[in-house]
Amino acid sequence: MRSLGILLLVLAPILSMAEETGRGSPTNRRMAITIDDLVVAQPSWHTAEQMERITDGLLSTFADHGVAAVGFVNQNKLEINGEVDAGRHALLQRWLSAGHELGNHGYAHLDLHRVSSEEWMADVVRGEPATKSMVTAAGGRLRWFRHPYLHTGMSVQVLEETAAFLSARGYIVAPVTIDNSEWVYGRAYAHAYNTGDEELMRRIGTDYVRYMLEVVTFYEAQSLAIVGRAIPHVLLVHAYALNADWLDQLLDALEQRGYRWVTLENALEDPAYENATHGWIGRGGITWLHRWAITEGLDRSIFKGEPVVPSWVESIQP
Ligand SMILES: [Zn+2]
Repeated sequence: MRSLGILLLVLAPILSMAEETGRGSPTNRRMAITIDDLVVAQPSWHTAEQMERITDGLLSTFADHGVAAVGFVNQNKLEINGEVDAGRHALLQRWLSAGHELGNHGYAHLDLHRVSSEEWMADVVRGEPATKSMVTAAGGRLRWFRHPYLHTGMSVQVLEETAAFLSARGYIVAPVTIDNSEWVYGRAYAHAYNTGDEELMRRIGTDYVRYMLEVVTFYEAQSLAIVGRAIPHVLLVHAYALNADWLDQLLDALEQRGYRWVTLENALEDPAYENATHGWIGRGGITWLHRWAITEGLDRSIFKGEPVVPSWVESIQP
C-alpha cells in the first residue's frame, strides 16, 4: 500500500502536467451544478413572459447535458404583493418535474453579516413553506440550504448558533468550490436582454464563457494546491437570462475539458467535504476550498491569481 502511495505521489505532478498541456486525457473531472435565486434572480428586471423564457432556457440546457441540479429558492421571488403567484409557482414546479432538487435560500435573501442571527434564522423558516410543500408533494424532503452571499457568520458564536439551527431543522449546507463573479455578467446581460441589443448580448455571453473557463481552471489548480487532488467541484451560478442563453456553451466547453456532471449529493460523498470550515469567520463569502485552507492554516498566498471580470462588463448595469 505504502509503495503504491509513493508511486502515486511521484506520478501525480506528471499526470496533472499532461492534463494542463492537453497531452493526456483529463481524468475524473466531475462537477455538480447549483443554481441560486429561483424562481429567477431578479424578478423586478423581467416580465412574466421573460421569466418563463429564462426557466425554459435553463431547463432545456440541463436536459440537453444530462445535468441534475439543485435550485435554491427565495420564496419572496415567487410572490407578488405578499402572495405566492400561481404563474411563478408553476415555473418552480417545472424544476421538480424535470428531475432537479430544490433547496431553501431564505425568504428574502437576508445577509447574515448585516442582520441579527435571530432575524436571519426567522427568514430561513419563512423561506420554507412554498418550496417545502412542493418538494413533499413530489415525495421528497427539503434538505438543502444555501447561505445568501455565502455569508456564514462573522463570529464563532453566530457561525455555531446558525449551523446548529440549520442542522436541527434537517438542512445540509450546500458548499461552493467554484465561486465566481458571474453575477456581474448576469447584471450586464439583463440590460442587453431588456433593450434587445443582440450584439451586446453576444459580446457579454462570449466573454462570460471565456471568463468562466478561466475560473474553472483556477479552481482546478486550487484543488490540487489545497486538497492535493482533483475533487468533484460544486459550481454556483444564478437563474439569470445570461445562463438561460449561454450556460449551454459553457457546459459544452467543460465537457470538452473532460467534465462529467454529478449531483450535489454525489459530489459531497467525496471525503474532502468533511474538511472543517470553521476557521473562516471573515466578511467575504469565499469558496469552501479557501475555508478549508484557512482552517488548516495554509499560507493564503496560494489564493492569488483569481480571474477578474473586465471593467467594460462591470460598467453595464440594468
Ligand atoms: Zn443568492
